[in-house]
Amino acid sequence: MKINFLTQILIAFILAVILGAIVGPAIDIVSPLGEAFLRLIRFIIVPLILTTLITGVASSGNLKKIGRLGGKTVAYYLATSAIAITLGLGIGYLFQPGEGVQVPEDIDTTAAEVEQPDSVVDTFLNIIPTNPFQSLVEGNILQIIFFALFVGIAITAVGEKAQPVLRFFEGFSEIMFKITGYVILLAPIGVFGLIAPIVGEYGLSIILPLLKVIAAVAVACLIHVAVTYSLAVKALGKMSPITFFKGIAPASIFAFSSASSAGTLPITIKNVTENLGVSKGTSSFVLPLGATINMDGTAIYQGVAVLFIAQFYGIELTVMQLLSVVLIATLASIGTAGVPGAGLIMLTLVLTNINLPLEGIALVAGIDRILDMFRTSVNVMGDASAAVIIDRNEPLDEEASLQSS
Ligand code: ASP
Repeated sequence: MKINFLTQILIAFILAVILGAIVGPAIDIVSPLGEAFLRLIRFIIVPLILTTLITGVASSGNLKKIGRLGGKTVAYYLATSAIAITLGLGIGYLFQPGEGVQVPEDIDTTAAEVEQPDSVVDTFLNIIPTNPFQSLVEGNILQIIFFALFVGIAITAVGEKAQPVLRFFEGFSEIMFKITGYVILLAPIGVFGLIAPIVGEYGLSIILPLLKVIAAVAVACLIHVAVTYSLAVKALGKMSPITFFKGIAPASIFAFSSASSAGTLPITIKNVTENLGVSKGTSSFVLPLGATINMDGTAIYQGVAVLFIAQFYGIELTVMQLLSVVLIATLASIGTAGVPGAGLIMLTLVLTNINLPLEGIALVAGIDRILDMFRTSVNVMGDASAAVIIDRNEPLDEEASLQSS
């Protein structure tokens, strides 16, 4: 009997939790399986985005439409991030995760490692590549999007002479989708190899003192997914939330396992195009953009973490401070890279701006990986919801969209 793909992933997940709990830290021996799968997924990302986006933009051939689509996408991303951070703050107030926390003795709160993130202006300037080939080599997604948009638009403008180039990219993008299909078959093994070592590594002594923080982040994430995305997908995308969550489930589980929304990208693209009928053009624009700038889960986490740290140090936040958290955390989540642990670094930006002690970072650092799993999963679902909504309202390449629906 053939077991369907989602069931395979779920079985791998459950097996990993059970074995990780029984075997303990020694289960780390399976981590190369996870690492190998992550590498396989990463090797797809750059050529997949480049070729699919060029093809999508060129076949739409309408600059105005691309502008509209971009505007709507960014507006949706900003709005949902602001909702997410407000929700994080709200749940942080309700749960009071910082009250009565005993810091485990082995945590040195005076020596928090603080890295300075890029400023907002630099983040925007960095979108313009000085050498597109370097962007490809370095895998700089925003710069690749920038380059692909220009190439796609210019292919249309050039007309007849550029047709061979368009056909080349069309063929190449089909090839990349095929390769993605092959690689994804191995996802259950990847999920197993990523989850088992994490379960084996984290003992209860690390998790228990901060259980309320974990619960607050998890509950806020759940509410955001169940309420915000369900409503958005239903009202703006005319899609049943159940269809949506089922279609995107493999990507969500993989995001949870890998804690990298950029690393999940090929699976997200495949899920929304094949399971949710989104056109390839739209998904290759909206999803890479989202994986780079849209981090609702990270925004939720910033809200909870800020309140946790304030409560821990007994600091009462003013309304002004709370409002700046909403603004700065929204900007910070844009600047957060879709890689494990990036949200923790951006938390320094938020803390600095409202004058909370940076040592607070050390308090949450020990359980960051666990929080990262929840927030990354939400990050990916948020991007997917945008792809569905934008495609239903503004398909980039209508033909492809009709074919796949
Ligand atoms: N790991 C998250 C992601 O890849 C970013 C973060 O650390 O918040 O989406």
